[in-house]
Amino acid sequence: EMFLRELTQTIDTLKGAGPAVCARLSKAGINTIAELLRHYPRQDKYEDHITRRTLDSVIPVCNSGAFTQPPDAVSESREICTTARVSHISSIYIHKKQVPCITVFDGTAQASLLCFKNPELARALAREMTGAAPDISYLVWGNFTYSEKYHKIQSGDFEIEREDAPPAVLAKKHFGALLPVYRLSDGLRQWHFRTLIQNALAQFGGELENTLPPPLVEKYNLLSSANAIRAIHFPRGFDEQAGARRTLIYEELFYLELIIALRKKGQGGGRVKEKNDSTALQNRLLSRLPFPLTDGQKQVVAEINADILSIGQRPMARLLQGDVGSGKTLVSFLAALAVIEAGGQAVLMAPTELLAFQHAENAGRLLEPLGIHVAFLTGNVKSAGRKHLLSALASGDIDLAIGTHALFSADVVYRRLALVIIDEQHRFGVTQRQAILNKGIGDGEAAAENAQSPHLLMMSATPIPRTLAQTVFGDMDISVIHGMPPGRMPVLTRTFSQENEAKVYTLVRKELAAGHQAYFVYPLIGSEEAAEDFDSGKTGMPGGNDGLKDAQSMERRLRENVFPEYKTALLHSRLDDARKKSIMESFRNNEIQILAATSVVEVGVDVPNATCMVIEHADRFGLSALHQLRGRVGRGSAPSTCFLVWTPPESPLAREAEGERLALWQKRLKVMRETTDGFIIAEEDLKLRGPGHIAGTEQSGYFALGLANILRDAAVLEQARQDAFELVDADPRLEGHDGILLAAVLERARPFTDAGW
Ligand code: ADP
Ligand code: MG
Repeated sequence: EMFLRELTQTIDTLKGAGPAVCARLSKAGINTIAELLRHYPRQDKYEDHITRRTLDSVIPVCNSGAFTQPPDAVSESREICTTARVSHISSIYIHKKQVPCITVFDGTAQASLLCFKNPELARALAREMTGAAPDISYLVWGNFTYSEKYHKIQSGDFEIEREDAPPAVLAKKHFGALLPVYRLSDGLRQWHFRTLIQNALAQFGGELENTLPPPLVEKYNLLSSANAIRAIHFPRGFDEQAGARRTLIYEELFYLELIIALRKKGQGGGRVKEKNDSTALQNRLLSRLPFPLTDGQKQVVAEINADILSIGQRPMARLLQGDVGSGKTLVSFLAALAVIEAGGQAVLMAPTELLAFQHAENAGRLLEPLGIHVAFLTGNVKSAGRKHLLSALASGDIDLAIGTHALFSADVVYRRLALVIIDEQHRFGVTQRQAILNKGIGDGEAAAENAQSPHLLMMSATPIPRTLAQTVFGDMDISVIHGMPPGRMPVLTRTFSQENEAKVYTLVRKELAAGHQAYFVYPLIGSEEAAEDFDSGKTGMPGGNDGLKDAQSMERRLRENVFPEYKTALLHSRLDDARKKSIMESFRNNEIQILAATSVVEVGVDVPNATCMVIEHADRFGLSALHQLRGRVGRGSAPSTCFLVWTPPESPLAREAEGERLALWQKRLKVMRETTDGFIIAEEDLKLRGPGHIAGTEQSGYFALGLANILRDAAVLEQARQDAFELVDADPRLEGHDGILLAAVLERARPFTDAGW
């Protein structure tokens, strides 16, 4: 007996896997038997030779008034499994070739079976019919299409067999079976892949050992590993398929949680939390502020202090979530003061130069008066200046370094890095976390001095739903800043279709006349390119910029035609940093009233006098992005409005083609109008688009589970988590780092550990 993971034989040992096939599979990442067997059928996709469906179900239903197909359209193919009589056998000409054709009738409609593949079948059937009684019943399965023009149902991909044939004969043609449908790279055919899987199952499948602990298999009435693997590929019916699915999903989530449980245990017990009063330096900053901390901020600062100020404990690993505008920056400065006071250094990393600059400015204003040495380091700091900076960081002259990922380039050495703050962490991808922490430990001499890895504070305004946060950041503590600084007015969200843009401009003009400022955001930088700012991962929309307004041309139009009486500027990621900085400064000082931009303004920009956020082609942005953009306004005491402008498709055909996109957009719109709570929006975004689309995590592989979907299967995840933690607490074998179970755990864990956990 072996575990599935132990089937490391290469696939060329399989019958039917020649060199060409192996090369193709290898391209798809399938090299071993284990990998082949883990290539599951497309989610819930099986050719259904069980469920009965009559031929007439392929004819589209036309609702009066609704959009119908053009007269020569052919309907999408539909799977039919029915009992029919053969009416006659003939042949028709297709592309000048004679094709035998079997006409069948199942009591609801007639259909033609076109025998492209085996013309003998028609002849054999004809013989069968002349010999026997004229009304033999046949089982027919096929993918059928309906042509409106010819009023005809037909199939070139079918099976037919006498209903009274022996079971073995029927089984050979798959009647009564569910056949897997795989996602295949080109050059491979379904039947071929099915054969490979079947061969692998026959050769190795029976020997598979259970991976899950038996009590759990029993508790949830799961299948054995051998059965689950066989049945996910070739289920004997829907019940068995569901059982296999349930088993594999539970298994995936269980192992995921087991890793987290093991890591947590490895970190040792809880720390002694005593000291959480604010420190002297923190108090000096607080006394200089024109406002008190909100209760939410106070709470979180206390939590952070408890971690940082408790001596001899493991370093802090904390995710700080707080909606846009909740005041995370200030909290992070207070955290930095705590380590600096104890003689350490802190870094604050932001995803963009613009945001890093803004933080550096704030730090200069708030912290330098306290005697803190602040440095600004980005990729653009060059030669002499950079050299100077690096030596100041290495000698410990600088207390707080603020910048982009350049803070962690190879040549940057810290003397006593004690706290790493990552702002807008979802922008970085979670995998960068380990690299950053390693930086704190450093190598050589530095490593000796930095025996402990630094405290980590990750901040995000993209709220991660609780279930997901537990999974991805299961070994971190999570803090949430509840509530907003006082005096904030909720932002009114209004939607307009493109045709009504003039109305939007009128409303914006009113605000400008009252002395306020406005953002206009576009999905593209210029008209030429599919710009980098149009982050397709974020929007989840197909690319292509046909008919999209872009920031460049619109800035001109706004300046010359729409609002000539106001100052307008253009902001996007391709501008050099000096230019970006000076534009932001002018906008903040109200020397510029209108900022036409791409989503660069999404992150962190803070201008309280701006009261209008106009997002054109809003349907091109994801919910989280819209929420972030909307968070740029409503930061002062005046009421603000977010205008979502979208373009309805023009023709009915386009409407049909864009149907799915539109439906998604309608749902998002509703969410945006109804709530300003980032957590709810994140939950909705997850539901609408699935966890693969959480901003910034697309490539990380964290959600690349085989069958499980962390959100959809949240209830199972919760259960699996409980089981995993119980097991780790109870099973002494795990302590010794051996035992069958742990080996299985580690194997299962590999996709996660490789991703940088
Ligand atoms: P975010 O959490 O989105 O990063 P910021 O840290 O940029 O939010 O803070 C938004 C604004 O709120 C800033 O102008 C900041 O000075 C202000 N602010 C932060 N804390 C408070 C507070 N306790 N009272 C009033 N204003 C605050
Ligand atoms: Mg911020």
